[in-house]
Amino acid sequence: MSARPAGRRRRLFFGLPLDASLQAAVGTAVRPHVRGRGRRVPPENLHLTLAFLGAVAEDRIPQLAALAAGIAVAPFTLELTRLGYWARPRVIWLAPASVPPALAELAAALRERLEGAGFPCDARPFAPHVTLVRKAGRGPAVEAIPPLSWPVDRFCLFESRTEPDGARYVPLACWPLTPAREEEGDD
Ligand code: ATP
Ligand code: MG
Repeated sequence: MSARPAGRRRRLFFGLPLDASLQAAVGTAVRPHVRGRGRRVPPENLHLTLAFLGAVAEDRIPQLAALAAGIAVAPFTLELTRLGYWARPRVIWLAPASVPPALAELAAALRERLEGAGFPCDARPFAPHVTLVRKAGRGPAVEAIPPLSWPVDRFCLFESRTEPDGARYVPLACWPLTPAREEEGDD
């Protein structure tokens, strides 16, 4: 049966998807540096979280889609290069060399609209990263890899599903980043 109870809740977040080729490239580039115990994120699950929502009633998804569709931020490129370790969540991550203003803008716009629409977000400052290993006992062997260029042209609403063999992140909908328009002279 495909019918679902209206009040079903889904675990959701907004994030940036990596193309399959970049997922594979990241996997290959970091593999030599993350030996040791830990649960590697499978390449197809690699992503960058923009705003984590947690469990949301399914019937509010259209509201999320509407607020995402109203966001106008220009595309940008990330240079994935910094490797690091957060001891408390025990994750090894890959982060961009710097945070382009458009990425900060995108995350801020999302969070602001989410708060405004009654979807509370994590209050911690935005620390863009791609999680590589969970339950990692120690940090990576090196602090950087040769930069991998990531042209970001869209963001997505993901559902985080727990399946027998682990989490899977399924994009429910994506929105294009829109090139900045030339100033029009017609005031
Ligand atoms: P699991 O929690 O089942 O071990 P997971 O952490 O990969 O798996 P989720 O907890 O659903 O899956 O998280 C989805 C994404 O959101 C991940 O990138 C995760 O790091 C991020 N995330 C989870 N909780 C928060 C939070 N409170 N604040 C910010 N980001 C979060
Ligand atoms: Mg989690």
